[in-house]
Amino acid sequence: MDKAVRTGPPLVVFLDRDGVICRYFARDWTKRWEEFEFLPGAREALKLLNQARATTVIISNQSGVNKGVFAAESLEEIDRKMKKAVSASGGRIDAAFYCPHTPDESCLCRKPGTGLVRKAVSELNLNLKESVAYFVGDSETDIITGHRAGLVTILVLSGQTVLAKEAEGWKVKPDHIAQDLMGALKYIL
Ligand SMILES: [Mg+2]
Ligand SMILES: [Zn+2]
Repeated sequence: MDKAVRTGPPLVVFLDRDGVICRYFARDWTKRWEEFEFLPGAREALKLLNQARATTVIISNQSGVNKGVFAAESLEEIDRKMKKAVSASGGRIDAAFYCPHTPDESCLCRKPGTGLVRKAVSELNLNLKESVAYFVGDSETDIITGHRAGLVTILVLSGQTVLAKEAEGWKVKPDHIAQDLMGALKYIL
């Protein structure tokens, strides 16, 4: 079957991981692959993004690494297996960038810093000015990150944030709110 050919500027979608692609644990981490659970519809949504030739990039804080909760190797294994599972269902994750630092380390890559977005832009040779670019996340931190990076922000209610009204008190409001990643496609595709 032919891929849907999208005309117009390149499409770039930055995604948070936990609460967007996989289940978010309020008081725990996804420490190993066995704990990783794709959210319903997430792989299907990634497939549709791939068919629309979107560049998809995961930007995720994983301070559990430097807190010693899980090893960097575990994060790498989860990353590898997640990408493989997404590919197996017709999707594609072009790249994933993780910040392993704790807030105390004052790094430049931890969201709401835009360090990882800038790294992605540089490593993947993205031209955001000539693209239509989004940041999809489930927390205020994600929305601030996307806003700072000049992206259209979409809050999904499939993780840390459950109710749209929670965002009403945020300094930076999301441009759109959707139930989950599949719902966010309504604004992207
Ligand atoms: Mg999240
Ligand atoms: Zn960092």
